[in-house]
Formats: sequence, C-alpha cells, structure tokens
Amino acid sequence: MIGNESDVGALKRPVRTCIGCREREESSGLLRVVLEDGRIVPDIRRRIPGRGAWIHPRASCGLAATRRRAWARALRQQGTPDSSAVQEYLSTWV
Ligand SMILES: [Zn+2]
Repeated sequence: MIGNESDVGALKRPVRTCIGCREREESSGLLRVVLEDGRIVPDIRRRIPGRGAWIHPRASCGLAATRRRAWARALRQQGTPDSSAVQEYLSTWV
C-alpha cells in the first residue's frame, strides 16, 4: 500500500503514477512504455532509452489511458501515437 505525500520521504522504492487510472504505485508494479519509431511499445526489460511512461499491466488502465488521451501527453507527443502494441500486450493481462 502506498502512503500519502507526507511519508513519501520514508519510501526508498520509486513511486510512479499510472497514466491510465492516475493511481500512484511502486514502479515495480507498473509496466514501462516508451515511444519507438512513432509507436508506443512495452519496455518489458526496462532497457529502452528515452522518455517513458508508466501504466498498470492491465487492460482497463490501457483503455483508460486511450480514453483520456494520456499516451501522447505522457510521452510528449503531438497527435495520437499508435498504442496498439501496448494495448495488445495489456489485453493478455486481466
Ligand atoms: Zn492504473
């Protein structure tokens, strides 16, 4: 469970915000996604350089991110980047 802002300093593990549901979560519980050749792809090994975004590995958060147009904003892109690869990946999770 993630505490409130006042005890963030006590947490050693990095906390990120899911771009789908906007909940804060330890990065170990989130999937990193990056922009590669104009497409958003899951960075499963977390080794792809560049600007990344974080999302819960579940289909509902992927759909929420799309609905809120959060992909482009999170990755500093104009327009609507192709997130189909990530959606496909997320759809394998419940
Ligand atoms: Zn989420």
